Amino acid sequence: MVNVNLEACKGCMLCEKNCPLDAVHVVERKAVVDEKCCECGVCTRVCKFGAISKPADLSEGYAVCSHCSVQCRVPLGHTGACKRYTNENGELVRNRKLVMQPSDKVIYPDKRLEGPITTAVGAGTNYPCIRPAPHIVSEVRDGVECVTVVTEAPLSYSAAVVKLDTNTYIGEEGDPVYRDGKLVGMVNTEEYGSKMIAVGGANKLTGPDGFIVARTITELANGEMVELSVNKKIKIQVQAGKAPVINGVVESKMRIGCGSATVGLFAKKMKAAVDECIVIDHHVVGLFTEHLAGADVGMEWSGVVPNARKSSRGRYFGEHGEGIGGTTIATPRDAIKSVDMTRAKAGMQILVLNTTGEIRALFEVLPDGDVKEIPMTEKATALADDIMNNCEQSLASVMYTGGTGGSARGGVCSKPLAITRAVHEGKAVLTIGGAPTYILPGGGIDFIVDAGKMVDKGVTWVPTPATVAPVEYTMTKADYDAIGGHMGAVRPMDELRREFGE
Ligand code: SF4
Ligand code: SF4
Ligand code: SF4
Repeated sequence: MVNVNLEACKGCMLCEKNCPLDAVHVVERKAVVDEKCCECGVCTRVCKFGAISKPADLSEGYAVCSHCSVQCRVPLGHTGACKRYTNENGELVRNRKLVMQPSDKVIYPDKRLEGPITTAVGAGTNYPCIRPAPHIVSEVRDGVECVTVVTEAPLSYSAAVVKLDTNTYIGEEGDPVYRDGKLVGMVNTEEYGSKMIAVGGANKLTGPDGFIVARTITELANGEMVELSVNKKIKIQVQAGKAPVINGVVESKMRIGCGSATVGLFAKKMKAAVDECIVIDHHVVGLFTEHLAGADVGMEWSGVVPNARKSSRGRYFGEHGEGIGGTTIATPRDAIKSVDMTRAKAGMQILVLNTTGEIRALFEVLPDGDVKEIPMTEKATALADDIMNNCEQSLASVMYTGGTGGSARGGVCSKPLAITRAVHEGKAVLTIGGAPTYILPGGGIDFIVDAGKMVDKGVTWVPTPATVAPVEYTMTKADYDAIGGHMGAVRPMDELRREFGE
């Protein structure tokens, strides 16, 4: 285990916070290392006081792991930093049994090539990559011999893209995203009905907070709950497949569309329910009677002016903020800027709601052009309920992205460009943890995968730092031969099944 210079140690806790094995704790302001320590060097790299050092020699019973460049010295009965390899009686063994079956959430249209013969989860890593991948297996499918090459590849080019189905304000595009006060990502451009966050990427993984970045990507991709903050102010709890929690509020509904889309979808029902309707949204605020959809159902502008910046007919841009629908509008009343009484009539009813129909209030126009809130009528309630019931459940989803177009290709074949081309031509199908990928066009093998479809907890990380992706390439054996595959390492899948007792 590593040595602590007690004189130099300031008790700052950086080692404790970053140790991947929870093997160092600060007790009475001094670091104390326990027997789990695998000498991975994370603490020696984060300690600003040079208080921790690795012993020069290998202690008795320790095994040096060479499955990645970290070269952990793993104590007997314990694991290395990535928790993938255990020292069993002096031998390092991959401590997760190879998962051969992809998740049952995946449906492959072409059974011959699109599903891997085995997944790479539990396969381990052969390092350096010039060695054949840990498992290269073959199986006859529809009369054609196919091959799957699997490895758990450390990727410093990797990230988690988080999609939050919400209108709630989470900051502006480009704003920094932190975990435990460390910079791990940024707010991305948003998608229709969803806010996006990018966590990681090569530059953050290789930056000063790379360890926590790697851990965060891994935990997000594995469906664990992670607490992030935007600008160290807005708190977001993310767990793939669960509703996001923003500043302590559980998001329930995803908007049906922007305010303009809501008017477009419900114009007929709005006409039957009220005289005017304002739909608040941080993107486009909709004004029913002025909107073309309103005109289409026979309405003329009511004289109501919404509190937003005009874009085009019946469509207004909402200002971003922490109010209703991610706007600066704090209450439904604030959505009504003014009423032009040369067009409006006293007694008119204005329904104000958000794009999920959850926030709703009805107002009556007074003779002087002011408005007063009145109880919701049955018709207005039915309209708001209809909008609400057409909204989807708000969810957080995680896409794991990475680039396998680097040295990991060496474990696949002897012609790196050939495997890249085979992937782009569809001759070799890349799956990650058994899940289908989208390959970015252009050069390289850059993939995006829905982490929710991967084999459970398939991503790990190593303190180089990098995340470790379970990578599978499936192709016909003839194509594998043509790209310079490691033909001597191909084994029938049945042999592997016997080896793993399946
Ligand atoms: S990081 Fe260094 S100074 Fe801080 S507690 Fe650990 S050993 Fe001590
Ligand atoms: S060397 Fe690695 S495992 Fe050991 S205490 Fe430091 S960070 Fe933890
Ligand atoms: S982090 Fe690397 S060296 Fe350490 S146990 Fe994992 S694969 Fe082996």
